[in-house]
Amino acid sequence: MSIDLKQFAALQKNSKNSFFAQKKLLQQVMSGKTVLCATCQQPLKLLTPAQAEPTGVSCAKGCTDIALDFA
Ligand SMILES: [Zn+2]
Repeated sequence: MSIDLKQFAALQKNSKNSFFAQKKLLQQVMSGKTVLCATCQQPLKLLTPAQAEPTGVSCAKGCTDIALDFA
């Protein structure tokens, strides 16, 4: 099996983009802004260690579920 380097590079770029998108989203939620889930349009909730495990940002339906390490 050979790896298509162009595809591989595109894949890396995509995951990098989504990493930054998630980071930006987390920053918005953590600063108290209301951010809606891209899928169900419900407000995303910030789950802190005091509230729930695992911690992170998720919507009520769970289609957005970003794990966030508070440690
Ligand atoms: Zn959702």
